Amino acid sequence: MPPVYDKPTAEKYDYVLIGGGSGGSGSSRRAALYGKKVAVVEVHPYLGGTCVNVGCVPKKIMWHAADLQDTIAHHAPGYKFSGLEAPKFDWAAFKVQRDAYIRKLNGIYATNFDKEGVEYHHGYGRLTSPTSVEVTRPDGKKYTLNADNITITVGGTPTIPSDDVIPGASLGIDSDGFFELAEQPKRVAVIGAGYIAVELAGVFNSLGTETHLLIRGETVLRTFDPTIQETLTPWLQKTGVNLHKTTNVTKIEGNKGQTLTVHTDKGEKIEVDTVLWAIGRHALTKDLGLETAGVKTNKKGDIIVDEYQNTNVPGIYAIGDVQGKALLTPVAIAAGRRLSNRLFGPDKFKDDKLDYHNIPTVVFSHPTIGTVGLTEPEAREKYGDDAVKIYKSSFRALYFAMIAEEHKEPTVYKLVTVGPEERVVGVHIIGLGSDEVLQGFSVAVKLGATKKDFDDTVAIHPTSAEELVTLR
Ligand code: FAD
Ligand code: NDP
Repeated sequence: MPPVYDKPTAEKYDYVLIGGGSGGSGSSRRAALYGKKVAVVEVHPYLGGTCVNVGCVPKKIMWHAADLQDTIAHHAPGYKFSGLEAPKFDWAAFKVQRDAYIRKLNGIYATNFDKEGVEYHHGYGRLTSPTSVEVTRPDGKKYTLNADNITITVGGTPTIPSDDVIPGASLGIDSDGFFELAEQPKRVAVIGAGYIAVELAGVFNSLGTETHLLIRGETVLRTFDPTIQETLTPWLQKTGVNLHKTTNVTKIEGNKGQTLTVHTDKGEKIEVDTVLWAIGRHALTKDLGLETAGVKTNKKGDIIVDEYQNTNVPGIYAIGDVQGKALLTPVAIAAGRRLSNRLFGPDKFKDDKLDYHNIPTVVFSHPTIGTVGLTEPEAREKYGDDAVKIYKSSFRALYFAMIAEEHKEPTVYKLVTVGPEERVVGVHIIGLGSDEVLQGFSVAVKLGATKKDFDDTVAIHPTSAEELVTLR
């Protein structure tokens, strides 16, 4: 078993990090690689943070289960497989297996820390000065780690309205609670319209839970390109999600573990077993000693940083979700590694920093969505209508040619280009395999590729991705 430290091993460290998630792991390990004395303080009993424990990883596993259900129940018959009409998913057994895999990953995180010389201190970290972090161990005892460089990478937590604002709101769970569900609910109401609402409603729906999705607007994913919103929203309805548009929850009644009634401002009373809030997340910056150390936050509670992840206090940095920009695991890791390069690496890295432009991102909906760069409205706003040219194609992936009409998933690909050279500033795709297609095209966008560069690239046939290099 890798060691868990419960006291300091030096008067002073080169680097102390509060938070052992994506950002903390990426940055601490890079610093240790440069031979620095590094400690990570993590309050959760397991390393890995949100992504590993209650985020990307268990979510993607559940997405795969849902995807398999769709494949077996809706697609396989089209390929003349029979005997598969009523597949049964054993949620309870699958959860045990999924949790065991996550524990394995937690162990790998701890082993990597140990192998690479990062000390893992289990406890709650709080700044007591610009150069000291107080650790409160699980047994309540406290000690202090001193360092000239401290990074705050405590991530965030789901937001739930208070019972004062929406009576009964606390009867609902959040995405953390989703991963604790030991049994599959028969009926669920998911509230929200962002990444988590869309992904988890999709999982429930595919796996056979009666799923209600309550959104404030007309479409889901309102920050995405309109083409994505307009394609996914009706498809969610077509696949059986009960979509309640322009709807606000006014009250939830009932008892946990029994039927809950969700009341809406449209006078609806929706009866479900589980209510899941997915209305955003906020940074875990309360009770972190930020005021004591003089670290500034914005109104939302996110730590304010410059492009080098510096806070306003010299020697204190913030990376990942806690700084409120691009809440994605690879962003936290990349920013963390670059920060350590800059602080502790060779001279060539003295200005290293993460470029937050053109960060690709994927939504694990059914079908998946990939997006990088500017949306069409953003491009029009930035460059003017005359400078923007859109290329777009809607089609059915070949895979669906054999599949019944009602299960043929949509595919829509869109390029946003600007200027006479038609530089591609946005790629927005929805359809089978979009999660895998996007990565390579995001390299092209990052390199400033033009539409002609896309056209000059020979297509790979027969694929969906080839449409992106043959758009007219
Ligand atoms: P975290 O990973 O949250 O790590 C912060 C760590 O700090 C935690 O372990 C926490 O316990 C610890 N901590 C907090 N306070 C203290 C304290 N005072 N003292 C000591 N330790 C403390 N991103 C993707 O890129 N792809 C996805 O598919 C994806 N899916 C997601 C699905 C869900 C349901 C959720 C909720 C998020 C998802 N994300 C996804 C986002 C991703 O998980 C986060 O962006 C990422 O984890 C942020 O990393 P971080 O290091 O900033 O914070
Ligand atoms: P998001 O910010 O993506 O979406 C939350 C949405 O909820 C808002 O866009 C808003 O949509 C709606 N909302 C906000 N307040 C309320 C309210 N009071 N009542 C009803 N609806 C409300 O947050 P998520 O919690 O879904 O995810 C947090 C972040 O985690 C994401 O932004 C993403 O960065 C990351 N993540 C990434 C994933 C991935 O990479 N695949 C997966 C999951 C999370 P509207 O204005 O339309 O009502």
